[in-house]
Amino acid sequence: MTQRVDQSKAWFERARAATPGGVNSPVRAFNSVGGTPRFMVRGEGAYLWDADENRYVDLVSSWGPMILGHAHPAVVSAAREAATSGLSFGTPTTGEVELAEEIIERVEPVDQVRLVNSGTEATMSAIRLARGFTGRSKIIKFAGCYHGHVDALLAQAGSGVATLGLPTSPGVTGAQAADTIVLPYNDRAAVRQSFADNPDSIAAIITEAAAGNMGAVAPDEDFNATLREIAHAHGALLIMDEVMTGFRVSRSGWFGLERVPGDLYTFGKVMSGGLPAAAFGGRSDVMARLAPGGPVYQAGTLSGNPVAVAAGLATLRAADESVYRALDANSQRLGALFGEALDAAGVAHTVAYAGNLVSVFFTASPVRNYHDASGAETWRFPAFFHALLERGVYPPPSAFEAWFVNAAMDDAAFEIIEAALPAAARAAAAAERPA
Ligand SMILES: *Cc1c(COP(=O)(O)O)cnc(C)c1O
Repeated sequence: MTQRVDQSKAWFERARAATPGGVNSPVRAFNSVGGTPRFMVRGEGAYLWDADENRYVDLVSSWGPMILGHAHPAVVSAAREAATSGLSFGTPTTGEVELAEEIIERVEPVDQVRLVNSGTEATMSAIRLARGFTGRSKIIKFAGCYHGHVDALLAQAGSGVATLGLPTSPGVTGAQAADTIVLPYNDRAAVRQSFADNPDSIAAIITEAAAGNMGAVAPDEDFNATLREIAHAHGALLIMDEVMTGFRVSRSGWFGLERVPGDLYTFGKVMSGGLPAAAFGGRSDVMARLAPGGPVYQAGTLSGNPVAVAAGLATLRAADESVYRALDANSQRLGALFGEALDAAGVAHTVAYAGNLVSVFFTASPVRNYHDASGAETWRFPAFFHALLERGVYPPPSAFEAWFVNAAMDDAAFEIIEAALPAAARAAAAAERPA
């Protein structure tokens, strides 16, 4: 296989001079898989094209937002129309009300939302609000769950933090880390114990509604319900982070599948249509504590940006039941292809789902938490990854990420994946455990 990467190589060199590591978000640098990150110049439907004109079936979908596929005509035209009417006003706008109403209509426990610019901002604001509401300081999070790069939430985070093998990040102060209690995912006894050990000091539990940042790891059947029950028994709040699952795994996100209400929610990714927009919201009595009505401060110059709001609204309006059926079908189809190819190559594996998030773990044992995920034979992943990449399939460049299908994937896209997988599975089989 000889795929030309000269242009991407040249751009990566320029990028590394201008930007730390050559990227604006660490996992994009391919550190854990090696090789040259592809510099993309265009996306349409299920495909991406790089600077060397290689075409890829995109299984990252911008880490989730592009559920309709790239450059969806309705989304592009909504963003274009909004842009021609002015890019930002710093005043209330009509579109942001419509987007807020769309979110509230879809996710029942959300009475009110505030728009922000990234998922990180959403979780940061939600924990500030939970602390302000309860008058307490400690937060429980789960190992392998990623909630953005908020100082207090970087401890044993998933996604890029896991990919780079960081326990937490230098630059996070002892005080910030000391208020964060990190527990194993899906471990109800640990949560109970933690509340017993820290009476009256835990403001909130923050959890991914279904974990997607250590690979896809669904919550055990009554895990989320138990979190809600324990939190409420102790006067704490439950923050459901649906930045990844929201408006992707169903029209109402993970809440639509499980119906365990959180007190606060965080959203991002899909609701942005691919532009920078995110939100947090929840119970009206909690949201009432926010400025300007309440004392908990939170603000944003570009929050509710009209172009981002238009793209997000157009995405949600186009995401009808047929889109969710396509996402579910495409993720099942992808998972089945993983299974067939890896079985044929004799590679021990588990294909895991959390709704329509799908992952492959190189272990035959079930994966219920970050300990299990990192115990898999992750060293097989780079070979698997590169064999797919060379054959025109763009996988997430880390063993600790979910794979994101979109509704634009058709039989032609799946034929490319199906043709690439046997060689990728053989490459995974042939990979050698590092000494
Ligand atoms: C992506 C993600 C975030 C962070 O969102 P950004 O927009 O990257 O800041 C937070 N929580 C979860 C669950 C995510 O998947």
